[in-house]
Amino acid sequence: MKEKTRPVVCWFRRDLRADDNRALSAAIGGPEKILPLFIFDDEILKDHGAFDGRLRFIAGAVMNLSKELEKKGARLACFRGRTDDIFRDIAERVNPSAVYCAKSLTWSGKSISARAAGICRDWGVEFVEVEDNVLASVEKIGYRKVFTPFYKQWVRSLDIKPCGELSSINAFSHDLPGIGEIIGGIEPSEKLPFDPRGARARLESLDLSSYGELRDRPDIDATSRLSPHIRFGTISVREIFREAAKKGGEDNQFVKELAWREFWYHIKHNFQGFRETEFQEKRRNIRWRNDEKLFSAFREGRTGYPLVDAGIRQLVSEKWVHGRVRMILASFLTKDLLTDWRWGEKFFKEHLLDYDEVVNTGNWQWCASVGPDPKPLRIFNPCVQSAKFDPGCRYIKKYLPELKKVPPENIHDPLNGRLPWHPPVIDHGEAAKKARAAYKGL
Ligand SMILES: Cc1cc2nc3c(=O)[nH]c(=O)nc-3n(C[C@H](O)[C@H](O)[C@H](O)COP(=O)(O)OP(=O)(O)OC[C@H]3O[C@@H](n4cnc5c(N)ncnc54)[C@H](O)[C@@H]3O)c2cc1C
Repeated sequence: MKEKTRPVVCWFRRDLRADDNRALSAAIGGPEKILPLFIFDDEILKDHGAFDGRLRFIAGAVMNLSKELEKKGARLACFRGRTDDIFRDIAERVNPSAVYCAKSLTWSGKSISARAAGICRDWGVEFVEVEDNVLASVEKIGYRKVFTPFYKQWVRSLDIKPCGELSSINAFSHDLPGIGEIIGGIEPSEKLPFDPRGARARLESLDLSSYGELRDRPDIDATSRLSPHIRFGTISVREIFREAAKKGGEDNQFVKELAWREFWYHIKHNFQGFRETEFQEKRRNIRWRNDEKLFSAFREGRTGYPLVDAGIRQLVSEKWVHGRVRMILASFLTKDLLTDWRWGEKFFKEHLLDYDEVVNTGNWQWCASVGPDPKPLRIFNPCVQSAKFDPGCRYIKKYLPELKKVPPENIHDPLNGRLPWHPPVIDHGEAAKKARAAYKGL
């Protein structure tokens, strides 16, 4: 190691940016030199499968972070392995006085933090977690089991002050590996429709005057598509909030969506079993049908319901799917096919670029009518949803080009027998009756 002084490590996690980064800002507050660090954690990578598109997005984001830091005079140290092992290695090699990082709100993130904090304690290194990727301290808001009362509190608790401009970093000089040595073999994320550097441009082009009206239309590019950026922190949520408030006032539908994300962290914090257990106690004994054949038809996009099958194709090919379609998929799997929501949660986990274990669990529970929702039972009719939200079938035809020449009226209702597609695996009317029976009295 080139320097003998004890540096402060700034460990980047879900905050892959140098601008408006609270952990970095806190780390540079003292006189110590800064060692920026990123770890490709093998445990997380194992969950993501082999070097798929998601990993390329992360690699691109880290590469970008590395360049941003370089402009400010600091070199990002990069490792791949088990976080615990890397922490021990770093402690031994550079003997830092402290490690700063963004606080994690997820189950796996908290478990990694706890282990890292333990190692730091053993080595006499201070471990400091800084709240960064939420707009309010959702763990401190008094427990609200329903979104609207939570939202009222959330608005009052907003903490959106930006970090000051950071022109240069008092950097620790080192010869630890950099990003190039770690991700040499990863292709750039060309195949994915998400550019790790594209968040700000996307935010600036967001039209909030039509968002409320069009956000449910998968055939129109009306939502922000910022979820992967929010997930990996390639832009700060505060910057997103400020831009949204500037365009649409502080209480607009888009801001409410940002609050929904934090509502799930709030529920997770207050309801310990949330990962695996239904939030609604009375809904813990639903008799799921869990038919493997039907689940395969769902996963492979051959349910015979074009909007459902198109959604699966978008999910599998783009590693992202429109929000309304996510709800239709989740409702179809849990209500029409009576399949355990945990199966759906795991399936989305295999594919989503924006996968967040807390947000995904919350939404799957909500769609399965077992989560925090004042409405007792929601069953989406896939035919009605198709006609309402993809009236001209532009979305469906994009992902199911096999149906290009079929008129929309023959597509929306596959039970009409005029659709050259997989025969419907169930009759929605019948399936809805069975779902009501399965939920009856619960
Ligand atoms: C079954 C199911 C699973 C989901 N899994 C995830 C997931 O793993 N990760 C994830 O980020 N989102 C998840 N969502 C929420 C939502 O569908 C996506 O965040 C949104 O569609 C992303 O597109 P966007 O960025 O264009 O959203 P926009 O409509 O532009 O919304 C802006 C931001 O608000 C947040 N947001 C919007 N809707 C929700 C919501 N229902 N719950 C929480 N936050 C929301 C997201 O951060 C989003 O980027 C899931 C929804 C469903 C129904």
